[in-house]
Amino acid sequence: LVSRENHPERSVVEVGGVPIGPDHLVLIAGPCAVETPEQTLAAALMAKSAGARLLRGGAFKPRTSPYAFQGLGEAGLRILADVRAETGMPVVTEVIDPESVELVASYADMLQVGTRNMQNFALLQAVGAARKPVLLKRGMSATIEEWLMAAEYIAQRGNLDIVLCERGIRTFERAVRNTLDISAVPIAQRLSHLPVIVDPSHSGGRRDLVLPLSRAAIAAGADGLIIDVHPEPGIALCDGDQALVDADLEELGVVTRDLAALM
Ligand code: PEP
Repeated sequence: LVSRENHPERSVVEVGGVPIGPDHLVLIAGPCAVETPEQTLAAALMAKSAGARLLRGGAFKPRTSPYAFQGLGEAGLRILADVRAETGMPVVTEVIDPESVELVASYADMLQVGTRNMQNFALLQAVGAARKPVLLKRGMSATIEEWLMAAEYIAQRGNLDIVLCERGIRTFERAVRNTLDISAVPIAQRLSHLPVIVDPSHSGGRRDLVLPLSRAAIAAGADGLIIDVHPEPGIALCDGDQALVDADLEELGVVTRDLAALM
């Protein structure tokens, strides 16, 4: 269902009226985690002024350590809905188990399946049955084929509004959190008709790498970027080291506009 063999045209997926796909390079940005209404609104306004059309933000955070901030849950979803009402930006947020798909879908415009859940088949089937577009992140140890098969689980349930997201894979390199597999972009686009975006924030895990990796992603043909921003990364409850601040965002806005015009 997601293969390009039977569907040669590349697909465009609409999220709250915003198209993602060929000729529609999209910037999705916002805080890694929703912390407070003020922090989320500030991050959304930063994102919007850099050209982001969709707001990201985690209310349910699947963290490596059980002692790390796990997100605000439904209170976080309510904050996202309020910020959407204030900014007009449709919301992309993660769902971490099949039981909460209905709840998250009642607030979100797009359901994110994170790297740690890429092969949670019950979750894939549940988002496949939901009537909301899905952002499917690549498992950090998954091959491209396994990633596409995960998308197939979603599609098999009737939901073809899927956007693939390359977010780095685990390699021997320790200088970065994960290694952005840039070749996955053209390969996934050749094998599948689904749009493919890149997350330069969670792959590198470092602010100084977000702009270079963004340039690389767009040059490789990515259909969009999903990026962490925070008004005060120094006190962020989640992944502050990779969050962009205003000055970087200005440059990012220029980079995405200029490169998109060149492509
Ligand atoms: C995220 O985008 O908030 C996130 C946790 O990303 P990943 O699943 O890629 O680690």
